[in-house]
Amino acid sequence: MSDLWESNAVESGAAFQEEVRRIVEGAETLIRDSLGAAEVVLIPRASSKHGDVHVLRQVQSSQLEEAATRFLDDYLIQRATGTSIPTVRTMPYPVDGRHGSDQIICRILLDGDYSVCGCLAVRMQEADAATAPHKARLDAISVMVSTMLKAVTTSFELEIELIAAQRRSARLELQTRTDPLTGAQTLGAFEREVRKRLQDSADACALILFEVENLKNVNDLFGYQFGNSYLGLVAGALSAALPDTAIVGRLAGDQFGALVELPERYNSYLGDVLSRCRDSILRSTATLGRPNLGRTSAGAATYPNDAVDYDTLFELAEGALHVSKSGGRGLSTVFAPGMDRRPNPREITRRFNAALSANQIRPYFQPVHNLVTGDCTGFEVLARWEDPDRGVLMPDDFIPILNDPENAERLTQKLTGSALKALADLGPSRAKDLTLAINVTSFDLMNREFAFELQSHLSEIHGLSWSQIIIEVTEKIMLGAAEGQVFRTLEELRRRGARVALDDFGTGYGGLRHLSGWPVDILKIDRHFIGRMLDSEIDRAIVESILHLSESSDLTVIAEGIETPEQLRALQSMNCAKGQGHLFAAALPASGLADSLRTIDFDMLNSRDDW
Ligand code: C2E
Ligand code: CA
Ligand code: CA
Repeated sequence: MSDLWESNAVESGAAFQEEVRRIVEGAETLIRDSLGAAEVVLIPRASSKHGDVHVLRQVQSSQLEEAATRFLDDYLIQRATGTSIPTVRTMPYPVDGRHGSDQIICRILLDGDYSVCGCLAVRMQEADAATAPHKARLDAISVMVSTMLKAVTTSFELEIELIAAQRRSARLELQTRTDPLTGAQTLGAFEREVRKRLQDSADACALILFEVENLKNVNDLFGYQFGNSYLGLVAGALSAALPDTAIVGRLAGDQFGALVELPERYNSYLGDVLSRCRDSILRSTATLGRPNLGRTSAGAATYPNDAVDYDTLFELAEGALHVSKSGGRGLSTVFAPGMDRRPNPREITRRFNAALSANQIRPYFQPVHNLVTGDCTGFEVLARWEDPDRGVLMPDDFIPILNDPENAERLTQKLTGSALKALADLGPSRAKDLTLAINVTSFDLMNREFAFELQSHLSEIHGLSWSQIIIEVTEKIMLGAAEGQVFRTLEELRRRGARVALDDFGTGYGGLRHLSGWPVDILKIDRHFIGRMLDSEIDRAIVESILHLSESSDLTVIAEGIETPEQLRALQSMNCAKGQGHLFAAALPASGLADSLRTIDFDMLNSRDDW
């Protein structure tokens, strides 16, 4: 059955590629003939089970094709950053411009959902050939080609779905051990093996449950075929991030399970495993080029610490997963004693409030450095929950709290007060030149008294001024029109001398354009771009274009998540003003502030390969 499926799918894939090739060649001929073009290149980018179809053309690379490919890349970058890029790189042909006496016209092909389905580049022989009627005709042909590409993709996907459905029903009969879609074990096999492992060995291990968020929406929006490729990538990313000895199973449509062996002291180990899985899934699914993919919630429970039998262990891991899911975004939770089997948000809130009153929620500080001089210019305040039983918890473990307006505001107030005090404790001569960046939620900014409350913190603590305060907000907060309370609060904060930083810049969809009118002084480049920029040209170009943009609009840029000297050097060569990241320091408790004021010696950093 499996062979049959493979051969059917390969056959459909080949037919699909052939069909795309036919459309492309037809369109190229049509354009050449009807417009008298000297050269035409159409690069299709219809996504299918077999990946992007533009691979088809790689063999016949011409200069025009290169121009079109780069035009396409630039377009994708523009979409991510919302900017128009002057010249991100040198093009062999100017876009929509002249080359010698010839005119080049480039067009992006968009289908009805505004997904990119190709790119077109045309070289007209005479200088005056690219007149308005020509362009209009070219646009009409572009629309037609997009429609045809979309239609052939849809019919291909339907065909594959049909084959998949046949295969699913056959699978039910066969009761195979592995899930053919993802290569993970089936529920039955997973359960058998985990039970056996718990019986045979007393060594500590953790049962982790992962749930892929929004799978139904993904299927509805992009089709089952896409959903299947997506799940395949998630499973692959999970296996890659987990140790080889882990048992991995697909437990339901959108749920995976893993049994992972634990070292003797596993507190931070388990957290590392969970965040490695999360990062790996995000990275891998980003290659599909669709928004909001790769979010998974996770819940874990440990053997023999939390439970010794399979059923209880599973129940506790489910409880932890439930906590993550109620947070509403990709979170990971490790089961903790005292946590209900199905803890409810009210219970977390109660414990969080108790922790807040007991001063267990504390500000940690990540230094920000000037990338030219190495000086520490200030700190970003990051929340940490110092739980006497569970150790230091990261924001991901208690983010659900921030969905509640009252809790979010209490947290901000408490952290801001303590953070300002810790900064002032450095003494006026050291503190006065340092900035303090505070992450705020929309609830804080909806509060008419927010600026006033910050003012009273500042009045209580002597020696600090408004000009030292940076308010970090994410793009989402600014999605609305530039009016209303959020806007007014930001304006008020700025009027008093604070600066506004746009956090995680580049991850949203609008870029700066939809933010016009909003008060912004600083852009923080999201750490995922920094993490990928040395391997991915597109990510590097995004970083470059954000830096270009900042130069022309007088914004300061802070790069987040600098982890290696190579990333640092690349950012320095692009004239990025400031940065933060584990290369310099992770977030530190207040007691570490004074020590972290050191100036970084870049020469020494660069000479150390093993840093
Ligand atoms: P964020 O504002 O983007 O904070 C940056 C995150 O990147 C922090 O994670 C920081 O620890 C982490 N980070 C810094 N350098 C590196 C690096 O080199 N490599 C890697 N892999 N990570 C690095 P953290 O502390 O877990 O915070 C996560 C998010 O939780 C923050 O993202 C922010 O959105 C939120 N958050 C944290 N503290 C607060 C707070 O006090 N209030 C509010 N409203 N949100 C907060
Ligand atoms: Ca931040
Ligand atoms: Ca950030």
